[in-house]
Amino acid sequence: MFNKILIANRAEIACRIARTCRRLGIASVAIYSEADEGSPHTDQADEAYCVGPGPVSESYLNGEKIIEVAKRTGCDALHPGYGLLSENAQFIAAVESAGLTFIGPQPATVELMGDKQRARSFARECDVPIVPGSDELTDDQSAIEFAEAIGYPVLVKAAAGGGGIGMKVAKKEKALIKALAECRRRGESAFGSAKVYLERYISKPRHIEIQVLADKHGKAIHLFERECSIQRRHQKVVEEAPSVLMSKHPGLRERMTAAALALTRQANYLNAGTVEFIVDETGQFYFIEMNTRLQVEHPVTELITGLDLVALQIEIAAGHPLSLSQEDVSMTGHAIECRVYAEDPEKLFLPAPGKIGRYREPDNVRVDSGVRANWDVVSFYDPMIAKLSAHGASRQAAIDEMLKALAGYQIEGLTNNLSMHDRVLRSTAFHEGDFDTLWLEGFMKDG
Ligand code: ADP
Ligand code: ADP
Ligand code: MG
Repeated sequence: MFNKILIANRAEIACRIARTCRRLGIASVAIYSEADEGSPHTDQADEAYCVGPGPVSESYLNGEKIIEVAKRTGCDALHPGYGLLSENAQFIAAVESAGLTFIGPQPATVELMGDKQRARSFARECDVPIVPGSDELTDDQSAIEFAEAIGYPVLVKAAAGGGGIGMKVAKKEKALIKALAECRRRGESAFGSAKVYLERYISKPRHIEIQVLADKHGKAIHLFERECSIQRRHQKVVEEAPSVLMSKHPGLRERMTAAALALTRQANYLNAGTVEFIVDETGQFYFIEMNTRLQVEHPVTELITGLDLVALQIEIAAGHPLSLSQEDVSMTGHAIECRVYAEDPEKLFLPAPGKIGRYREPDNVRVDSGVRANWDVVSFYDPMIAKLSAHGASRQAAIDEMLKALAGYQIEGLTNNLSMHDRVLRSTAFHEGDFDTLWLEGFMKDG
């Protein structure tokens, strides 16, 4: 087992990884930027080192510096969290050449899945259904022809995109040309690649994903699904497990988990990953991408299975065979996660960084947070400040717990989306499980 792990991340996810390290008796090292000095995540680890100024390009993305800190402090492994360097194949290779173990998949797998278009081709080879779509598009004319062939609306996607960034719907040709230019630009500026492709836009889509785990010894298992259809700007804000859709479509869970495992096995996948699908109104599902890391919404899976995904990731990275088999994994009750963001749901979900005054967390649900009283939420980073995760014997019980938690969460002085979560959880559509990935934006606009 490892002696010391460097946590190459910040905020709530760095705190969460440090907690498991402590529980396992493994020492941990945090890194932080000048803007994050004194951040809660630095308190959670045993040691903490500054890696540069506020902008991520000068600190949290400075791979060389981070590896140097890991070596200097005697770490034997590195956990990347999510975002930042977690899906950077070059960084993973550098970590391994420095003699450290990367807690995640191998660089080649990350490279394959990091390009959505290549991942789609791979899924097709594995007989996993994909959304009808194009290969890489190098010129506008071929995009126009392709869109006409599959029919509008179409979705333009940056092949390297993530977090809902670099994705645009087009209903006709003129909009398509604009969308292509914008996605190329966003892809280049945010992810360093202008590569784009087209997918048919599935109407009334639901986002359902399968959590998988695979060890070095050829064993792969799934930990059921998470439904993440409550989104804004193609990014999740409420997630739950199990999905209410599973009771409407008999056999859907079995088909989706089998598809996710087929992909995982054929990719020789190592460690934790998430296979993302969209499901249409008829219950047909389509692969959209695989995320080769711990997912933001992993707590809902932990709550229904009673497992610690970070501990399992560490166990797998250390080369141990998975300590559990598929039959050992069972689902108890229902879990819901609300992502709490410093943003204004009334103003198109615009990020609203600022200073928190008084601050008190609810104590009836799991809270994953990276802030505290008098803490400045700065604009350098993602405006997510915490995740509330409720677990109940039934979906209704989980909703009731969450409503209590929302009411008991005090975040003074910072514009946030707590009241939006309250409205969502009380809505008829949410109660009836009758929503799709566009529902939230309409609900916030029209009520
Ligand atoms: P997940 O795929 O785990 O559900 P998200 O879709 O919210 O999480 O985010 C995907 C990844 O993109 C995450 O790793 C997150 O850190 C990163 N991310 C989220 N928002 C932004 C942003 N505004 N800019 C850059 N990266 C982001
Ligand atoms: P990201 O890497 O940014 O997470 P994804 O490909 O996973 O991008 O898509 C994010 C979201 O965009 C999905 O959850 C879904 O809401 C929407 N989406 C993606 N592909 C399609 C599609 N073909 N049709 C309709 N909606 C889609
Ligand atoms: Mg995605």
